[in-house]
Amino acid sequence: MNTGPSEDDRFRSELVSFLEEHAPSEATNSYRRAPGDLVPEWARRWQATLFDHGWMIPSNPRHLGGRDASAEQSVLFLEEISRRNIPRSLHFPGYGIAAPSLLEFGTPSQRSLAPAAIRGDTVWCIGMSEPDAGSDLASLRTMAEVYDDRFVVTGQKVWTSFAPIADKCLCYVRTDPEQPQHRGISALILDMDSPGISVRPLRNIMGSAEFAEVFFDNVVVSRDRLLGQLNGGWRVTQGSLGHERSSMWMEAVARLDRAIGDLLSHCRQLGSDTLMRRRIIGAYERAACLRALGFRSMTGAGPGQLLMKLATSELYTEVLSLAIDLHGPAGLIQAAPSDRDWWRDFLGSLAGTIAGGTSEIHRNVIARHALGLPGD
Ligand SMILES: Cc1cc2nc3c(=O)[nH]c(=O)nc-3n(C[C@H](O)[C@H](O)[C@H](O)COP(=O)(O)OP(=O)(O)OC[C@H]3O[C@@H](n4cnc5c(N)ncnc54)[C@H](O)[C@@H]3O)c2cc1C
Repeated sequence: MNTGPSEDDRFRSELVSFLEEHAPSEATNSYRRAPGDLVPEWARRWQATLFDHGWMIPSNPRHLGGRDASAEQSVLFLEEISRRNIPRSLHFPGYGIAAPSLLEFGTPSQRSLAPAAIRGDTVWCIGMSEPDAGSDLASLRTMAEVYDDRFVVTGQKVWTSFAPIADKCLCYVRTDPEQPQHRGISALILDMDSPGISVRPLRNIMGSAEFAEVFFDNVVVSRDRLLGQLNGGWRVTQGSLGHERSSMWMEAVARLDRAIGDLLSHCRQLGSDTLMRRRIIGAYERAACLRALGFRSMTGAGPGQLLMKLATSELYTEVLSLAIDLHGPAGLIQAAPSDRDWWRDFLGSLAGTIAGGTSEIHRNVIARHALGLPGD
């Protein structure tokens, strides 16, 4: 009996037609960010187009840039765009962290900020890390004095991605220094053009000033900008980190697959010895296992997401260093017979083992919570 195309088939073919009609050539050509242009105009237009057509986050309802897609359809969507290497957005914190946090913890008026964050009309940054509080986030020291109608914030954040162009900041501050470390933290929504905020861009190893130091000097924030409970910011931080991890594994696996595919084609061109072949096969096997593990982790939260972040980011750096080895000295000076700048990609990949929690911290958490091993 022929039952005709399923709903999922129709979903996929509508998506493919949409991508063929609307995806800008920049998005389909492995776009590289120019150092001074963090979110170029085409990327802003593309994100808005995705939102307006219900393809930005398909599982969301219409007013949040989706189409109430099922979990299976969300996977189809991620597969199609990852396979084509099409980014949804060039500024992840707004749709990936701020919006879900606003929707989970916000008042109705705070939740109303979510659509613009997802559409990309508002650029968000996330103020967690400080010079002496990165891995140990609970020791953050940026202070907010609490008054009946306002907070007054003083302190410093660092490594704040997109701060140089952000409109808003989801900022974690200490509101009660008397309480044990993680109990005295609150989450505030700050306007980045508030008097007293200054931003000093930090240039990364590839020359791009994507993140910055942010200084707060008696910044007044009205009381209705408190997200979640007073001194209940730790819960919001855990949500933020969870949202950051949950949506990234498939893109990470697709990135790995592409790197391994490029490596294989260079190998066919340049030849390879037994040791190199073994290393490549090892990477190929691990990438395949990670894909399977990623699908499994979608059925429940927990250590799956942590493992995926740890393992995909580390394997990616390994694959890129394999490619550099394969090309010999030429791999270091971009003289390799290749379209791909392996050395630059390698340097960029190191950020993935630090941002959103370092590999060492992920190992500690997995050891403690997933494997039940004793330790700090
Ligand atoms: C590309 C990029 C973007 C980022 N964007 C943002 C952002 O938008 N907002 C934001 O708030 N932050 C951001 N960060 C900062 C990031 O969250 C921190 O760099 C990270 O949490 C590590 O903190 P740290 O740099 O202070 O290192 P530290 O915590 O000082 O760690 C230094 C080293 O010690 C190791 N270490 C620390 N503690 C332990 C331990 N208990 N056991 C074993 N090893 C340990 C770490 O793994 C690391 O190797 C970004 C970072 C990068 C690279």
